[in-house]
Amino acid sequence: MEGILAAHKQLEKKGNLSKAVDDVQKLIDLLQRTRDAVSDSPDLTALQMAKLKSPVKQAFDKLEDDLKEVNKGLNQYQKALKDKFKNSALPTAPNDAMASQPHLINRAIAMHLLREGKFDVASTFVKEVDSRAEEHANHDGAINETDRSWVQDFADPEIMEDVQEASHDGRERGHLQNRFSEMYNILDSLRNQHNLGPAIEWARVHSQELENRGSNLEFELSRLKFVELYTSEDTMTSDSFEKSILALEYARTVFPTFSSRYGRETSSLLGSLAFSPDLAESPYQSYFYNPDAWEQVSASFTREFCGMLGLSERSPLYTAVTAGGIALPVLEKVERVMAQTRGQWTSVNELPVETPLPPSYLFHSIFVCPVSKEQATDANPPMMMPCGHVIAKESLEAHSRGKSRMKCPYCPNESHPRESKRVYI
Ligand SMILES: [Zn+2]
Repeated sequence: MEGILAAHKQLEKKGNLSKAVDDVQKLIDLLQRTRDAVSDSPDLTALQMAKLKSPVKQAFDKLEDDLKEVNKGLNQYQKALKDKFKNSALPTAPNDAMASQPHLINRAIAMHLLREGKFDVASTFVKEVDSRAEEHANHDGAINETDRSWVQDFADPEIMEDVQEASHDGRERGHLQNRFSEMYNILDSLRNQHNLGPAIEWARVHSQELENRGSNLEFELSRLKFVELYTSEDTMTSDSFEKSILALEYARTVFPTFSSRYGRETSSLLGSLAFSPDLAESPYQSYFYNPDAWEQVSASFTREFCGMLGLSERSPLYTAVTAGGIALPVLEKVERVMAQTRGQWTSVNELPVETPLPPSYLFHSIFVCPVSKEQATDANPPMMMPCGHVIAKESLEAHSRGKSRMKCPYCPNESHPRESKRVYI
């Protein structure tokens, strides 16, 4: 690993193109000056051209030198990588489910770029994917519609004029890009300028949808606004009494809308005013001196915004790549062991080992039957009896064999096995 780190450092130091870019710019300047001179006095064209010869050659030599350093660094880095990984081939999947679904992968990449706020890169990527789809169409005669349909969501209306007017479900073109740029503007205000205005306005417009989602965002924003009025350094007044009056006025106009759902919180926020100006010593200290407040509210906002678009809070590509990166060493070892022992996987849909992912990467709950202690599978799914207790199907069958009614292993309830329902987790 040290070799790679050293080569990486070297590359960072020498491998940047700024010197080359500067030298190219100097050459462009020289050529432009000559062009101007030629257009000013066309009779001297031959002289000007002759004068160019030697400096242009020198500039190209210099550029070559600049690039030599960069290439040297790159070669060393490549060599260090090869030395480190020469013996370990990446695990290969005999049935790569994604190989036949390039549009899903392309969509995930484009989506990730949008989520990162790299709108230009996303536009270029989508445009190139689309033009490649067209190229394929020229060979095969027809454009694969699945390959193309997702492009509609991403297309930037200005550069994608050849894409049909609206996508099949009537959404405007490039709607994802528009949404994400809206999200980025609001997040920028929140995170970087500590300005709650745009987020509060957005939450107000989407108040009903947020309410339906059971979201706390609108209240979280207003609570922070209240705290900010009270503690901010740059409000109109530095007098803490006047600040508390400002906060109180805000609370009077806004908090009544929250009183049914957040009655306890709003009254405790108002109660805090009694401790002014010694809030730091009060029981409400955590509300007013929370260094993570802006990050937390930004995270809530991102979650709700993405949630309303039907998207997860974090980029699926990021999640998949990170999870893959964490699990890869284990999978690689499994493959090596399998090859050595000529072992075979016994179960089609299951890995023979646990992949150690942190809790935030576990998305599907796992059901373990309390009777057999076995993990549920498609063939042996969890079944719920009328009493609400859940056991695996095989346990249910074993338990009820030969009986028309069976007693639940966990409560006195009796039921017929047919009354149990499959549970989908
Ligand atoms: Zn029961």
